[in-house]
Amino acid sequence: MKAVVCRSAELDLVDRPEPAPGRGQVRLRVVRCGICGSDLHARHGIDDWADLSARTGYHRFGRSQDAIVFGHEFSGEVAEYGPGCKGDVPTGAPVVALPLLRGGGGIDPVGLSPHAPGAYAEQVLVQESLMLEVPNGLAPDVAALTEPMAVAWHAVRRGEVGRRQVAVVVGCGPVGLGVILMLKAKGVRTVVASDLSPGRRALAAACGADVVVDPAEGSPYEAAGDRGHVTDMPAALELAVGTREKLGRLPVGWWHAWRLAERLGAGPKHPVIFECVGVPGVIESIIDGAPLFSRVVVAGVCVGPDRFRPAMAINKEIDLRFVLAYTPLEFRDTLRMLADGEVDPRPLITGEVGLPGVEAAFHALADPEQHAKILIDPRSAAAEPAPRAQANA
Ligand SMILES: [Zn+2]
Repeated sequence: MKAVVCRSAELDLVDRPEPAPGRGQVRLRVVRCGICGSDLHARHGIDDWADLSARTGYHRFGRSQDAIVFGHEFSGEVAEYGPGCKGDVPTGAPVVALPLLRGGGGIDPVGLSPHAPGAYAEQVLVQESLMLEVPNGLAPDVAALTEPMAVAWHAVRRGEVGRRQVAVVVGCGPVGLGVILMLKAKGVRTVVASDLSPGRRALAAACGADVVVDPAEGSPYEAAGDRGHVTDMPAALELAVGTREKLGRLPVGWWHAWRLAERLGAGPKHPVIFECVGVPGVIESIIDGAPLFSRVVVAGVCVGPDRFRPAMAINKEIDLRFVLAYTPLEFRDTLRMLADGEVDPRPLITGEVGLPGVEAAFHALADPEQHAKILIDPRSAAAEPAPRAQANA
């Protein structure tokens, strides 16, 4: 079979033997595979990841000198079951799978380890327990976005955003665009999107962002108008002292009223901010610009060291949360949302390419004006990413 192998930052289209499914594994014929920003990063920086994950006791990531087949965002068709499988899904049926594979040495990340080659290939192995049949005749290009959309769904769930709260998405690459789509699917009324790139801002609007901001021209935290957020320290002090004074006029003890209000979920209004850029300095700029009491969900993957002033975050009581991947349930629910039409991620897909065009696609993805998500079709011979007509335009 054909596959694109990365070794020492070189991408090569090669012939490899068809993989044989082990116990509990299934061989899929790949139909579509997304190129992820983490693949672009892993090409040159996978050793940094491998070092970091080794510090949390995980040693299954590949190294730059290994031969790695990238590709963890894919849809395919069942080709062959390995021993010990239940075989519930018929051969030829469309499926997606969480990109984890249980091998002899542990659980490997599909597409980021030499032990679990990914879907920049005609065939890929997946774990039967992590495989899901694609329902409702969902198109394979949309099904391939289950994985990145599950990343977005997990970030939105971790953000605990109420429908009336303002959500601010900083950075409108594929992760930020996915977060915008999922926020709107969840019914959040006001989603502000911020990106320096005009092309990315246009995609953010196509994904349903209500307000789109160029951060060089205005603050994304003020773009939704006055929402009663606490924007400076005098206002925070006034809120504390003023609330105490008001409750003191009640015939019951003010502390009873305060405790009851807390129990009912009352508190300072705040936005939920999604950091979807992942370069040094972004977290600090958010902490500096955000209203007091903001919740910040960090989804952008900054691998190198970064710095911010904790006292600034303390003065504002910023609630800083980090997110990684998703649970099997979130992956399953994301597939259902796509198949039921609750969320339509097609604006993200800006191009398609064949295996011979992966290198050209990596180059094209470096320019935010050109592309967001390019899908590989292993049956295509296209050596350049072809722009895709927007199905919903
Ligand atoms: Zn990814």
